[in-house]
Amino acid sequence: MRPSILFPLFTEITALRGIGPRLAPLYKRLCGQYIVDLLWHIPVGTIDRGYSPKLKHAERDRIATLKINVIEHIPPGRRSLPYRIVGADDTDQIYINHFNVKGDYLEKIYPVGRAVVISGLLERYRNEWCMSHPDYAVPPERIAEIPRIEPVYPLTQGISGKMMRKAVGLALSRLPELPEWHDPSLMERESWPSWNPAVKAIHNPEMTNNDFLSKKRLAYDELLADQLALAVIRRYHQGLDGRKIAGDGSLQKKLKQSLPFTLTDGQIQSLKEISEDMAAPKRMLRLLQGDVGSGKTIVALFAMLQAIESGMQTALMVPTEILAKQHHARLNAFLEPLGIEAGLLIGKSKNKERQIALDGLADGSLKIVIGTHALFQDDIKFKNLGLAVVDEQHRFGVQQRLKLSDKGRGVDILVMTATPIPRTLTLTAYGDMDVSRLMDKPTGRKPIDTKLIDLSRIEEVIAGIERQIENGSQIYWICPLVEESEKIDLAAATARAEMLQKKMGKKKIGLVHGKMAADEKDKTMAAFNAGEIKLLVATTVVEVGMDVPNATVMIVEHAERFGLAQLHQLRGRVGRSEAKSTCLLLYLSPLSEMAKSRLKMLRETEDGFLIAEEDLRLRGPGEILGTRQSGLQEFRIADLSSDRELLKMAHDDAGLILARDSDLTSPRGKACRILLYLFAKDAAVKLFRSG
Ligand code: ADP
Ligand code: MG
Repeated sequence: MRPSILFPLFTEITALRGIGPRLAPLYKRLCGQYIVDLLWHIPVGTIDRGYSPKLKHAERDRIATLKINVIEHIPPGRRSLPYRIVGADDTDQIYINHFNVKGDYLEKIYPVGRAVVISGLLERYRNEWCMSHPDYAVPPERIAEIPRIEPVYPLTQGISGKMMRKAVGLALSRLPELPEWHDPSLMERESWPSWNPAVKAIHNPEMTNNDFLSKKRLAYDELLADQLALAVIRRYHQGLDGRKIAGDGSLQKKLKQSLPFTLTDGQIQSLKEISEDMAAPKRMLRLLQGDVGSGKTIVALFAMLQAIESGMQTALMVPTEILAKQHHARLNAFLEPLGIEAGLLIGKSKNKERQIALDGLADGSLKIVIGTHALFQDDIKFKNLGLAVVDEQHRFGVQQRLKLSDKGRGVDILVMTATPIPRTLTLTAYGDMDVSRLMDKPTGRKPIDTKLIDLSRIEEVIAGIERQIENGSQIYWICPLVEESEKIDLAAATARAEMLQKKMGKKKIGLVHGKMAADEKDKTMAAFNAGEIKLLVATTVVEVGMDVPNATVMIVEHAERFGLAQLHQLRGRVGRSEAKSTCLLLYLSPLSEMAKSRLKMLRETEDGFLIAEEDLRLRGPGEILGTRQSGLQEFRIADLSSDRELLKMAHDDAGLILARDSDLTSPRGKACRILLYLFAKDAAVKLFRSG
């Protein structure tokens, strides 16, 4: 249970004056439901109200604080017009405009003949000074109520800056003193303030000196909480009963002999790590990270054979039905010489094939199965599942991993991802797992020739691909949107397909997009696979895992609208054969400098990890992959593009803390527990062996 010292912070925000049932949902959506969430709602900037000119010398469109005398009130003739108050200093006059505000209220605030200090955006309209809805309007004796510098918070419709500042102020007034969880020598070395003043400082922009250190300290708090939680989860996994899945090497040996290639060093090394994990009695939770085309699937297949050798079953889970079918066909080709056949289990199909697979899994006769997430639904019973492999794990977060191992059968888990996340970020996305990395590519791959081409040259591009098709190539053409939208000028896949069909003939050109029925999509993909369709126009659905070696040209329309990592993934769909491959990035000019350097980066390297590093440097982690699909934790204070050193520190620190005090029962350990709760890592705290 949450320690009582945190109760004031984990009270619902409705406990604050001014936040009732109407506003609470707005706050909840904006930052969260508890008072603590307001503390992490950090200002994105400041307003300086120190500009206090005489009107005659004032600059327009600036935030200004002015002392004026109220001259007269001009109520609006029509409702759509503002209520106007005329004021003046000794150099010029100004109109103060209020829309939809009652006159008697305004008469109180702006008494005629008296002085008022107003602060807000000073504008010019029809050659007159004006200010609409000043942020502040107070009599001169209360000028202290106008802060010189004011924090600017992210807001939403219905919550004004003033409301937010008030709410945060109230939250800050409830700030408890918390015991220090950081090592005193670290605090000293970094000159960090303690928690309470640090929180106050980041909401108080006038304390600028302290700001930076306070923010670092709190960022470190957040990262340490993250790393501690992951370390605890990881230890929990490792402590779960596992089984020795050692195998006798017989099937692996046969596979090795029948492969048309030899494994790369990276594959051999990764396989060794996986194999040792499986053979050990603990439970494996390992990530196999490797760029598109680096050969993860074969590594997984060897591991799966190890399970089969040990008399157990094994399953491969992939994100889509198309991929399940593709993997099923590919793996069965590898398995044929071994006399093993993999089953297929996908979504809805309630047919005989499915029933045979289900029966086979239940009675143990089916050793290996490939499928979608349907594989791990409750009604599917395995006789003796030893190893589960999860491919392309974008949508497979810490919570789901915990759930999968809680299936309770001592199942080893291998997760494969082609998302090239920089090494430091791996700590937070996959900090609960052991990691194997495939850094090399299978030999014999030709580099992909990447070109940036202005969209205006599309006719040349089309002429070029006609030649390519005549020479036997197949082509992907990627468009960002499915339907033409009048507002946004995006190339529409449908329109593009029609245009190309008109030029080159209907038969050669296929179209797949997200809104298509699954079987129709499958049919088109299968036709492309078989080489019947020469050019596949697609939205990004082909991004994940498609493998058509004969496809040697990748065209991406409006490349400037894609993320770097996404473009890299798309490009990885070609370059899978001995033939030379090309990737054409069609962009709409003018390109911003940033967009230009990003696209150039792709032209210069095919190293996904390098691209990911650069993308992170240029844009920050939220954008690298689209946080939605990246599986990356979103941080509220820490900024992974600038705080990566801190992340590494936190990772090491978390390890040390748990090594010394494995259940966090010492005084510092208890403080660390408070830290975990503070950042809502309740699930991790529950995994401690003692309360
Ligand atoms: P990933 O899943 O990492 O994207 P795949 O496992 O699909 O990559 O491998 C891409 C292609 O490379 C496949 O056709 C596979 O058979 C082939 N491949 C895998 N390992 C090697 C290797 N060591 N040498 C040559 N080709 C390989
Ligand atoms: Mg793959």
